[in-house]
Amino acid sequence: MAAIRSKNTKPELVIRKALHARGFRFRLHTPKLPGKPDLVFPKYRAVIFVHGCFWHGHHCTLFRWPKTREEFWKEKIDKNRSHDLAVMDELARHGWKILLIWECAMKGKGRKPIKDIVDTCTEWLKNNHSNKEIKGINEE
Ligand SMILES: [Zn+2]
Repeated sequence: MAAIRSKNTKPELVIRKALHARGFRFRLHTPKLPGKPDLVFPKYRAVIFVHGCFWHGHHCTLFRWPKTREEFWKEKIDKNRSHDLAVMDELARHGWKILLIWECAMKGKGRKPIKDIVDTCTEWLKNNHSNKEIKGINEE
């Protein structure tokens, strides 16, 4: 089961480091934006979220309902899910494009080479104007 939800998780740090090495400059957890996106690229009007599959209720192989306090978790995860949707709606309304990187793209059986993920991020930042998700291999 997932531990405490936190900022600056390992997958997030890996992505930050790799994009920085490619010359991208970004802000972190900008409190002025809805949902405090993990990475904010003002120049591209783009934000990246790195989402833990448990906390954000991803339908994937990393996600498992805890066996205890089922009601509590169901309510909590459902709330996180609807919060995420509302946040993305609001960002989109303000002209931000959004990339979601799910934990399962970087961890577990379905993980992808980090280079591929960073290539996708780079291409998306520069050339793609719609929202995108990166998930584990098994989830696509
Ligand atoms: Zn997932």
